[in-house]
Amino acid sequence: MAKMHEHDAALTDLVFDYMRERLAMPEVPLDFPGTSHEVLSALDGLFTAEGRPANQVMDLYDNVISRTVISADSPKFLAFIPAAPTKAALLFDMVVSCASLQAISWLEASGAVAAENQVLRWMADLVGLPEGAGGTFVSGGSAANLAALTVARDMGRKKLGGKVPVRIAISEQAHSSNRNSLSILDVEPLVVPCENFRMTGEDLARALANDTSDVPVVGVVGTAGTTNAGIVDDLAGIGAIARERGMWFHVDAAYGGAALLAPSVREVFNGVELADSITMDPHKWWFSPFDVAAIIYRNPALAKEVHTQKASYLDVLHEDGDTDWNPTDYAYHLTRRARGLPLWFSVAVNGTDAYRDAVESSLSLTREVADYIRAHDSFELVQEPTLSVVLWRHKDWTAADYARMQNTLLDQQIGFVTPTVWQGETVGRFAFIHPHTTLDMVVHMFEAIA
Ligand SMILES: *Cc1c(COP(=O)(O)O)cnc(C)c1O
Repeated sequence: MAKMHEHDAALTDLVFDYMRERLAMPEVPLDFPGTSHEVLSALDGLFTAEGRPANQVMDLYDNVISRTVISADSPKFLAFIPAAPTKAALLFDMVVSCASLQAISWLEASGAVAAENQVLRWMADLVGLPEGAGGTFVSGGSAANLAALTVARDMGRKKLGGKVPVRIAISEQAHSSNRNSLSILDVEPLVVPCENFRMTGEDLARALANDTSDVPVVGVVGTAGTTNAGIVDDLAGIGAIARERGMWFHVDAAYGGAALLAPSVREVFNGVELADSITMDPHKWWFSPFDVAAIIYRNPALAKEVHTQKASYLDVLHEDGDTDWNPTDYAYHLTRRARGLPLWFSVAVNGTDAYRDAVESSLSLTREVADYIRAHDSFELVQEPTLSVVLWRHKDWTAADYARMQNTLLDQQIGFVTPTVWQGETVGRFAFIHPHTTLDMVVHMFEAIA
């Protein structure tokens, strides 16, 4: 046991020095994907019975492992959904770790739970959810969607009087995690064809009217910011139909939710306040480190009914009945780190205006990039951007050219840009999240590949 702590002081310096250096970088290096040979041979035989000097292992991390991780928080990372954690959030993530903060229950961690709830309330206010709304933070949007869809299924079944088959409607553009969740839950999706890649109330009404199955549709998932194209569904139209028919309305705003902060696009979210549950990922556009997603319910008591784990050793958590808030009761999890606190600390320190401005900066960059593409002879927009995703094509390119683009940009450390598929066609895609991504960086990418 003593042996495990022999080097604690030196280790602390070693790790803090590394972190200090990383935090002081004006821009983190993009870095490269590794080959499996390179990574595996560096790790080969590392574990020994006696252990190794920490600086040797730290060097291995710094010189090999970290270099084969493409930095999602580089402003030149425009693939998938990038990350851009604030220093405040990164630093507080270390506090959460160092203090072994876990936040299952009010009994064990009331302060941490109250602080997480404060930031959930801030998010719920942006959505327009009522006073009683609440939820918890889970590891990601996929987990949040699973938590919500479980409640949607069980509430639908409850109304029907038992464990009967039910379905949930989703659009063709809904994130893959929703279909995955439905498959885990053994719920068939009703896939709603959408006229314009954006599910409207009419699309949903038509799909329900044309439906010949007699398995009841008890819920619907609307997307507020599709991952592939940044499109926001007609939440007001979908929400109205859900209300009318007593269907659960889940809004997947894992990527797009942060744009609720931005007055320039707030209107496209109209109707989001009708949500029975909503997913928003702080590790995407709310400038938190991985891994954290908020799941917020209009009526959290329903989620509690579905997700509370009952075990004799846990009875003490529920002794105070309805007054104590136990985050464990609102998703499929028990032990959980207080992963909402980095966002809480960063919002408290930086202020909410800084959040609004950072989101607006990516939205205005998106408009500038769209203008650049419109003015260019060889490139064109595939779709008008709604949020901060831009789909574009080069008029003469085939799929192989997009693959070449990805490699060229990464080889030269100019950018990390991956293609996507839109209506069967391979096209270029940028996702802007990082407030330090500039128009110059993007123009440089286009010039390198044109
Ligand atoms: C990213 C994303 C998800 C999945 O979130 P993870 O945090 O990666 O699990 C779900 N839905 C949408 C719309 C997303 O953009």
